[in-house]
Amino acid sequence: MSHQHRPWGYSNESCDVTPDWELHEETLAVRAGLARSGFGETGEAMYLTSGYTYTSAEQAVHSFTDEVDHFVYSRFANPTVAMFEQRLAAIEGAEFCVATGSGMSAMFASVACMVESGDRIVAAASMFSSCYVVLNEILPKWGVSVEFVKGNDPEVWAKALNKPTKVVFIETPSNPMLEIVDLQVVSDLAHKVGATVIVDNVMSSPILQKPLQHGADVVMYSATKHIDGQGRVLGGAILGSFDYIHSYLNPFIRHTGPTLSAFNAWVLVKSLETLSMRVNRMNENAQVVAEFLAQNSKIESVNYPGLKTHPGYATAQKQMSGGGTTLSFEVHGGSKALFEVMDQLKVIDISNNLGDSKSLITHPSSTTHRRLDAETKASMGITDSLARLSVGLEHSSDLIKDLQQALQ
Ligand SMILES: *Cc1c(COP(=O)(O)O)cnc(C)c1O
Repeated sequence: MSHQHRPWGYSNESCDVTPDWELHEETLAVRAGLARSGFGETGEAMYLTSGYTYTSAEQAVHSFTDEVDHFVYSRFANPTVAMFEQRLAAIEGAEFCVATGSGMSAMFASVACMVESGDRIVAAASMFSSCYVVLNEILPKWGVSVEFVKGNDPEVWAKALNKPTKVVFIETPSNPMLEIVDLQVVSDLAHKVGATVIVDNVMSSPILQKPLQHGADVVMYSATKHIDGQGRVLGGAILGSFDYIHSYLNPFIRHTGPTLSAFNAWVLVKSLETLSMRVNRMNENAQVVAEFLAQNSKIESVNYPGLKTHPGYATAQKQMSGGGTTLSFEVHGGSKALFEVMDQLKVIDISNNLGDSKSLITHPSSTTHRRLDAETKASMGITDSLARLSVGLEHSSDLIKDLQQALQ
């Protein structure tokens, strides 16, 4: 199990029994990080507390200097948040995890903690629009230069990574185009020029892709998506090595405060128990739906990494264990025709979230990616007739019937 240097303020004997064999991901998802109180509760406890008390003034001093393991303030650490962090780290196979209040606070902190004025970032251009705003508008204001490259072209990466670079930022598969970046190829190029590779792994979740096994250094999540996966809470997480977390992330995050609440951590730690079952079923359903759409005459194109026709298919086969839970497609007839199809759906909801147990469809151009200018949208391939479909846990035959009747 992944043990983190987090302060435990009480004896926790029931959790000290660690089997002497390597546990499967599914077992870790239910067991890792569990810290029972003296009551021996089966369910993970929710510690709604902002602060902690000390038995003496001296214990307080030693808690602040890390000489004793004792929680000091929930902006830094909280027992329920720590359970979520340790469990996710165990699933990911990462040394350390730090939870945050949203995916965007995770993305921002993961990059901002590393860079200073004059530094250079190279990023795959196709990405979630708020991440694009952070890289294209916010960090440049502070003197950080950012170059965007076509993520699926290794030659373009080789050209961009020919001079000192602090951070390489990759979203693969990308939202909403499902473009695939070869993690190993880009990580090798990045490391040659001293860059830290940060991967936004939201679209795959740790179940379908583990970037740290393919050369990346840091992984970040919006836990709002597959990890909660049931439309309830916002959350985020950053995972990486001891060195990254302690040299860069913790000094930044402790004082800027993008903390995950104990309540949300409690929801999310329980969600991790079913993450693999949910994501694997959603992935199977998405494959079936993508194959159905690909042979429908009303559909102009389908982007899904699990289809052999997808340009990133071979790379996806190498680094993912499925095509993912999300696809996008274009209909003939532009946004008017697409809106008619969306309005006819009876099972699938119109919503801009993804990774949910309910299937959700959205029109990126006018909603999630509305902030991007026409040129950027065009370069990313986000047209007016493009819909993104996050495939949920409904029976796939109901989803196909729903799409079929709406397309007619
Ligand atoms: C949703 C999303 C985010 C942001 O997460 P929030 O929890 O909404 O802040 C970042 N990256 C990707 C790829 C996303 O889909």
